Amino acid sequence: GTGTGTGTGTGTGTGTGTGTAGPEADRGPRIGVFGGTFDPVHIGHLVAAAEARYQLRLDRVLMVVANEPWQKVGERVVTPADDRFVVVDAAVEGLAGLEASRLEIDRGGPSYTADTVAELRATYPGAELFLVVGADVAASMGSWRRVESMIDDVVLAVVDRGGVAPRVDLPRWRVEHVPIPSLEVSSSDLRRRLAEGRPVDLLVPAAALRRMERLGLYAGGR
Ligand code: ATP
Ligand code: MG
Repeated sequence: GTGTGTGTGTGTGTGTGTGTAGPEADRGPRIGVFGGTFDPVHIGHLVAAAEARYQLRLDRVLMVVANEPWQKVGERVVTPADDRFVVVDAAVEGLAGLEASRLEIDRGGPSYTADTVAELRATYPGAELFLVVGADVAASMGSWRRVESMIDDVVLAVVDRGGVAPRVDLPRWRVEHVPIPSLEVSSSDLRRRLAEGRPVDLLVPAAALRRMERLGLYAGGR
C-alpha cells in the first residue's frame, strides 16, 4: 500500500476509545491487525479495515495475509500465499493507513493469530494493538490456538458482518464494536463468480483485479 501510517487518523471519528488517559501524543501507535485468507480480497474486507481505522482512530491497519489458514487447509485448495498477498497489496493502493502485511508468510507454517500478536507486541512494545475480526470470526474464536494468550495484548474490534449482531463469547476481553454497512460479499462467492466467468467489478478494486488477471489467478474466470 501507499499509506504511510503516520498521524492519528482522519478526524474525531465516532470511536469510543479505550479509556486510556492522557493526550494522544503521549501514547504509542494504534495498530489494527486484520488477518484473513483474502482468497481473494474484496470490498467487504476493505470497508471493514477502513471503518475500523476511522472509528478506532488507528494509525495503520495491517491486513495480515494468512500463510496457511489452518481452518481452511484440507477443505479446499487455497491460492498460494504470495499470490494472495500481491492482490491485497494492489487492493490497498491509495487507501490511507491500510497496508498488506507479509508477517505470517515470512514466518511460514500454519498461521496462528496468537503468534502474530506476540510478534507484533515484541516489535511494537508501546503500541496499542487492535485485533480486527468480522462477527462470524468473533463467534468462533474460542477454538483458536492459545487464544487466551492475547487477552492483555489486544483490544478485540468486532466488525459487523451480514447484518448479524456481533456476539462475542470471550468474557475477559476488551471488546469494541465497529458498525459497518452490510456488504453481503465473501471470497467464497467471488471464487464461484470467477469460476463461472461472472463479473466481480467493484467487488474487487480494479488494481487488484488487474493483478489477479496478470497472474492468471482464479482460472476459469475472466
Ligand atoms: P471465505 O468465504 O473464503 O471464508 P471471507 O470473505 O470470509 O472468505 P476471510 O479471508 O475468511 O474472507 O475473512 C477475513 C476477515 O474479514 C474475517 O475477519 C471476516 O469476518 C472478515 N470479512 C470477510 N468478509 C466480510 C464482509 N463482507 N464484511 C465484513 N467483514 C468481512
Ligand atoms: Mg471467511
